[in-house]
Amino acid sequence: MKIIMLGAPGAGKGTQAKMISKKYEIPHISTGDIFRANIKEGTELGKKAKEYMDQGLLVPDELTVDLVVDRLQKEDCKNGFILDGFPRTIAQAEALKNANQSLDFAIDVNVPDENIISRMEGRRACVGCGATYHVVYNPTKVEGICDACGKELILRDDDKPETVKKRLDVYHDQTQPLIDYYANVGILKTVDGTQDMEDVFNAIVTILGA
Ligand code: ADP
Ligand code: AMP
Repeated sequence: MKIIMLGAPGAGKGTQAKMISKKYEIPHISTGDIFRANIKEGTELGKKAKEYMDQGLLVPDELTVDLVVDRLQKEDCKNGFILDGFPRTIAQAEALKNANQSLDFAIDVNVPDENIISRMEGRRACVGCGATYHVVYNPTKVEGICDACGKELILRDDDKPETVKKRLDVYHDQTQPLIDYYANVGILKTVDGTQDMEDVFNAIVTILGA
């Protein structure tokens, strides 16, 4: 099963993609996670990507597309994958099509802008394993400490309110057009992302099939 997740930053794509990956045993590929891993390792790609990410802008397609297309050639993607955060532009969607990746579902996790701000302000990411939590909606057992690996939690630089506003503008301008794009392809499915995480997941499972 080949799936992409659409939705505004903070809509819950990563949260759902992890659950889908586990249930359907397909790899979860997040371009945001790949860029953050590169930043942490201090690679050239990481240095370039950080300049854009810190400003709430998209990393240019030239730095993003080949990375994903190469990743999808790996053995573990033979039976499918779930892409989280890619494509984010029409050019990326076209590149995916040209790479002969025929998708089964494009799931749009629909959350209005007014809910996004509180989602992002409360999101906390683990500096060790990258797991994400929310101070209200998905808290850790011990405040500030990752349940999975015990390391410290931080507020991502790009989750600060001034950057969130820019990311939302960029989303509406460059990524939202993908909703019509995939509706035209005939694979768009929309779920109400304002529900509890478990309810969003159940709605997705109904679409994908148990
Ligand atoms: P995205 O990958 O789309 O940027 P995340 O999955 O990281 O979004 O979710 C953003 C924040 O909102 C996280 O802190 C997450 O714990 C929280 N969250 C995700 N889904 C829900 C939900 N259905 N209800 C409330 N909070 C949620
Ligand atoms: P995410 O973790 O998906 O919220 O992504 C964090 C940031 O990484 C985004 O705000 C972008 O700057 C960058 N990024 C992630 N995926 C892409 C993509 N497909 N195209 C361009 N930039 C991306």
